Order: sequence, then C-alpha cells, then structure tokens
Amino acid sequence: MSIDLRSSESEPSPSGQSSPSSTADQRTPFKTYKKTLNPIRELGNKLKTVPSNGRYYDVAQDILGIKTGLSNVFLVGAPGSSQWVLVDAGMPGSANLIVSTAARRFGANVPPSAIILTHGHFDHVGSIISLCRRWDVPIYAHTLEMPYLTGRSSYPPPDPSVGNGLMSLLSSMYPKKPIDLGHRVRVLPPNGLISQLPGWRWMPTPGHTPGHISLFRNDDRCLIAGDAIVSVRAESLVANLLLTPEMHGPPMYFTPDWHASRESVRAIAALQPEIVATGHGIPLYGEEMQMRLGKLARNFELEAVPDHGRYLRGPAIADESGVIHVPPSQPQPGVSGAMILGGLAMGLALGWMAGPRRHREWRDLL
Ligand SMILES: [Zn+2]
Ligand SMILES: [Zn+2]
Repeated sequence: MSIDLRSSESEPSPSGQSSPSSTADQRTPFKTYKKTLNPIRELGNKLKTVPSNGRYYDVAQDILGIKTGLSNVFLVGAPGSSQWVLVDAGMPGSANLIVSTAARRFGANVPPSAIILTHGHFDHVGSIISLCRRWDVPIYAHTLEMPYLTGRSSYPPPDPSVGNGLMSLLSSMYPKKPIDLGHRVRVLPPNGLISQLPGWRWMPTPGHTPGHISLFRNDDRCLIAGDAIVSVRAESLVANLLLTPEMHGPPMYFTPDWHASRESVRAIAALQPEIVATGHGIPLYGEEMQMRLGKLARNFELEAVPDHGRYLRGPAIADESGVIHVPPSQPQPGVSGAMILGGLAMGLALGWMAGPRRHREWRDLL
C-alpha cells in the first residue's frame, strides 16, 4: 500500500507545479482509504491506529503525519493544494524529510502558509531553523511559549526519576537551551482562530509546557494534541521503537505541572474527538480511543501522574518571561551516566531480540 503523497507518480504541470483539480481524485479520504486498503492495525486491545506506511500516517483526507525519529509532524492541507500548514517541526535533522515530503504532496516550491508549534520542546522544534532557511513563513505559538522560542528562558529541568523507562532516564541529557526564532515567531491570535488554518481552532492545553496548545477541527472532530496526551508510553525506549498504541498522559519526565495537565486532558476529552494525532505514537481513532480518553481524564492521577517526583508537590511556575520558580530536585540514588548507557544498550538489545510479545515485563521497564 502507499499513502498519497501526491508523489512523483502525479503529473506535474508545465510550470513545474501540479494543479489541485487535476489530482483531486488521487486524494485518500480517510474512510474510503480504510475500506479499500484495510491496513488498520486492530490489536487485541482494540485501539485503532490510522493507516500508516513506514513513517507516514494517513490521519485524514487532508492531514499527513510524518514520524521524524521520535516525534511526529503534521502536514495539514489537501494533496495538491497550495494552501497548507505545518504543525510542529520534528526532531533535529528532519528538515530534508519534511521539505521533500511536502514537495511530493503539494508540489515543488510550495511552502506552507504558516508553521504552528504545539510547544517548543527540542523534539518539536528540532528542524525549525533549517526549515526557516528554506521557507520564509510565519511561525505561531502561544504567548507563554515565547520565552523558550526567543532565547529568553530554558524549560524547567526534566525529572528523570519518573516513568520507569530509559527515555525518562535519558531525559537529563536532552537539549534544554531555548532556540531563538526572533521576529519570525508570532503570538497566536487570541480568539482561537488562525487565518491560515480555516475550520480549525487552537486551544491552550498547558501542563506539559506553559504555553502548550492543541488544534481541533469540529467538522471531523480531529484533534492534533501535541504532547498534551500521547499515543505511546513515551517514557519507554522500547515502546517508542515498537510504537505500541496506548492512550497515555503527557511524557512524565518533561511535564512540570500536573494540575494544569489534568485540566488540559479533561478539556480535550470534553471535545470527544474522533481522531487523535499526537506528538508521539501512531494517531488513534474510534470508540475505544474515545473510551480510553474519557477514562484517562477521569482517572488522571492514577493513570498519568507519577507516584513520586520533583513536580508532584508543586509545579514549576512560569510567566511570559519564562520560568520563575522550580521546586528543588529530589535525590536519585544510583543513577549514573554509566548506568544510563548500560541500560540503553541493554534496552536496545532486548527490544529487538525479544520479539513483539516475549519478555514484555522487561521491556516495559526500558
Ligand atoms: Zn514535549
Ligand atoms: Zn514531544
């Protein structure tokens, strides 16, 4: 099977750009696509993931997801259209992938109308500087995310002690320095509407970061949730490699405000989305997803909040200038660089050698 990237198979026009009308029939409407190709993975737990092909996710007729290493970006716009928007900018080193995929889907030299950032963590802005060199387009983010996108403040430090996974343990090594997008980055309009993205509205979903946002389209109840919720156990390296679908709270090690995060998940659940595309993991859809999202919102403390950790008693506090208070760190006995590297090697070995089902109890700890 192949996902419609409006790829090299499509006929270019004499000008080198394809016209939308000539390729409208090449689109892959979500429901038709499901019926004809039926590549949907229905696992034992009945969580349904959207059709995927390698690193590409067919989220909806006009939404293509791309997995860039550990995190996802989304191209929102009908194949062949000259109007499209990029949501998030992926891991470092992903610019060529994003640009070439966009060229195949929308035509050569068709930049997005805008780039919208759900938040500024390194795995969501990793390629934005490179993308800016090629595309002179506005970038939008929430006003409370600006300090981390204009070089003014680092995020609160991660908490490697939570989540029981190698991704958590390694989190102290992740890039923390803010990037500086200067004048290119603009504050999202306060009314929830973005002119470049008709039919959608943005909503604040803080907790994972102070200015985290999600995007929702009422027509098909599609939600792009960033890291407010994720569809994989983000703390686990093996889960990230296997992309085992889950309905999961935000990555624990990078979430410094659990109260705000809970309110955000409740707001997301209240939308009753039918498709959920998250910053990590394969996008989910369907009744089982909705049921689990409701359960996550109701049982947030039990399902999403760690039972210990730096940000449990009180959150990191931030304002429009950046972080102004961080709770003291908690001792983490016995966690050394050597242990982390050793664990990483063991995790990789076990993850690939043990197969998809065996030794699950070991893999879940990695
Ligand atoms: Zn994040
Ligand atoms: Zn992320």
